[in-house]
Amino acid sequence: VILYEEVVKRYGGFVALNGVSARVHQGEVVCLIGPSGSGKSTLLRCTNALEAIEGGRIVFEGQTLPTPALAAPVRRRMGMVFQNFELFPHKSALENVAIGPRTVLGTAKAEAEEKAQALLVKVGLADKAASYPSELSGGQQQRVAIARALAMEPEVMLFDEPTSALDPETVGEVLNVMKRLAEEGMTMIVVTHEMTFARRVGSWVVVFDKGRVVEEGVPKQVFEQPREQRTRDFFSHLS
Ligand code: ATP
Ligand code: MG
Repeated sequence: VILYEEVVKRYGGFVALNGVSARVHQGEVVCLIGPSGSGKSTLLRCTNALEAIEGGRIVFEGQTLPTPALAAPVRRRMGMVFQNFELFPHKSALENVAIGPRTVLGTAKAEAEEKAQALLVKVGLADKAASYPSELSGGQQQRVAIARALAMEPEVMLFDEPTSALDPETVGEVLNVMKRLAEEGMTMIVVTHEMTFARRVGSWVVVFDKGRVVEEGVPKQVFEQPREQRTRDFFSHLS
């Protein structure tokens, strides 16, 4: 689905991605792990062409990603979920989920809302359709954000630390929704510090350090028999 070839991303003189090559296949859950500042979020932002790359290329469904200015159509095919939800505060949960299809896809109001309600059911929020973000817990808001991304019927879902801003009690409900999505065959790229999730749900784990992929493999191998010293260092710094 996505192919990264020697991707280079710079911020001024700083090299945030230093020749990253990787692949994401259909139906895979690829977990990106690694120290703070290693380039994980940068790779996600480049994946949906929120940011341009300076070298290499990213191929999505057989097509090289265009520059950010031309990327709106391809960005629409990817759902993105951020750490801080970024819901519209003055819209209800239902409206937050329905607005993308209505404004971007031109779906009729009744149809968009029916679909939105079904997605709220799917993320376990059937009874919260009329609630505003301020009336929802962090975990509930994040599940609305997931439903909102799914409303656009994305081919791939990108998650950037979806649970790291949440109270510990609500982390599990969000991870469960993600796990179910994975089981349904959704292709997902997940930046996470939740090693248990990466281990149990991930189909492939990519370890970043200083803008490079230092190691990748199936979770069992990476977690139980890391090949690289830098992977072991990263694990040993996790509390
Ligand atoms: P974390 O786990 O803390 O989220 P990360 O792996 O997601 O880290 P990135 O956010 O991708 O790291 O950042 C990689 C590096 O690029 C960091 O050193 C960061 O300071 C730098 N960087 C990111 N965005 C910008 C920007 N817009 N301008 C300048 N430097 C940036
Ligand atoms: Mg990040």
